[in-house]
Amino acid sequence: MASRGFLDSRTLGETHHRLALNVFMVIVLAHWAEHIVQAVQIWGLGWQRPQARGVLGVPFPWLISSEWLHYGYALVMLAGLWLLRGGFTGTSRRFWMLAFGIQLWHHVEHLLLLIQAQTGRPLFGQAVPVSLLQLVVPRVELHLFYNTVVFVPMVIAVYLHLRPSAAEAAKMRCSCRPSMAPLPAPATL
Ligand SMILES: [Zn+2]
Repeated sequence: MASRGFLDSRTLGETHHRLALNVFMVIVLAHWAEHIVQAVQIWGLGWQRPQARGVLGVPFPWLISSEWLHYGYALVMLAGLWLLRGGFTGTSRRFWMLAFGIQLWHHVEHLLLLIQAQTGRPLFGQAVPVSLLQLVVPRVELHLFYNTVVFVPMVIAVYLHLRPSAAEAAKMRCSCRPSMAPLPAPATL
């Protein structure tokens, strides 16, 4: 029996969807928590912005100063959203793909930041690389916002995915699918 590769869409989207989803959500949550900690450092503790580097960025400042790393993470997140989409059905899939669409834009912003850092030519005559929406909102606030508006539809999608109606469950092919014992009729609210 030929075994399928890890990145085969049926591996991540079907047979190991639950496991892959759990691992991915932990990574995304940890990253988002770093943005929250950074916000608390600035607005709760009154730290100067250059010193407010979250938890890992305090002992490892290069983690936060490397545009390569920010871009790499944005790309990994985009890839994860794409690779895991196969398991989602119905409404949960729409929320998941909404998160993917927003992350696609967030990733473009990081690509622009990376290009500016590599060429040494910040856009719009700025002193440092800037995101497009940073012309309106400062970087810390903007990227906290970006990570939040990607995370929220992801959580909704996962919540709906793990609590499917009978009709949704019947369409699911992934490892999150409830046991196929006769399912109760969908609850009426
Ligand atoms: Zn699943």
